[in-house]
Amino acid sequence: MHETARPRRKLGVMGGTFDPVHHGHLVAASEVAHLFDLDEVIFVPTGQPWQKAGKQVSPAEDRYLMTVIATASNPRFSVSRADIERNKVTYTVDTLREMQSAHPDAELYFITGADALANILTWQDWAELFELAKFVGVSRPGYELNTDHLEEHLRDLPADAVTMIEIPALAISSSECRRRAAQGRPVWYLVPDGVVQYISKRHLYVPAGTEGKA
Ligand code: ATP
Ligand code: MG
Repeated sequence: MHETARPRRKLGVMGGTFDPVHHGHLVAASEVAHLFDLDEVIFVPTGQPWQKAGKQVSPAEDRYLMTVIATASNPRFSVSRADIERNKVTYTVDTLREMQSAHPDAELYFITGADALANILTWQDWAELFELAKFVGVSRPGYELNTDHLEEHLRDLPADAVTMIEIPALAISSSECRRRAAQGRPVWYLVPDGVVQYISKRHLYVPAGTEGKA
């Protein structure tokens, strides 16, 4: 009996601050997994996020646990501690290098929203990024998937290096969830139920000194 070559595993990598993780993130991952026939999507919460340097970000452990809670019921979703355990500012290229060495035989797909894609491709080393992964940019309400300023570079890349896709529009952001929680407004149905409960249990996003006051 001769062996047939096993097809390479296709892994999605969804980086984010996830402060907190919300249904926009989950729909993006689920939709890309379906369209690209991915075997798994690994969510990678950032350590100290580089775009957010100087801003207040919740402890990595809380963001990690919320991401675990939100993804636990999906057999194709998992969460990596790679970025939160690297004690420095997170760059996408570091995340991808680490994912590649952990899964050397896999084909990686980096999933990002329209806003983040523009940032990553503007500031980081293209050549290496595209050696490590294919990029999938998903639509996000309020942001245009505008690649005009990238055209010149995109021309030199293989056609599947960056794919832009339209996903069901959810106008949800972590910033808005934090603002709502801080004001005592509901975040039910914007984030998974377990995340609502975790936010309340850990008093995340409420101004210091007002915990417990309804
Ligand atoms: P913040 O408001 O704190 O920046 P966020 O909602 O943008 O939070 P991030 O953790 O910054 O969430 O985003 C992680 C990834 O998910 C990014 O690639 C971002 O573009 C994408 N993303 C976030 N929200 C949505 C959404 N509603 N629809 C599509 N993509 C999204
Ligand atoms: Mg963001």
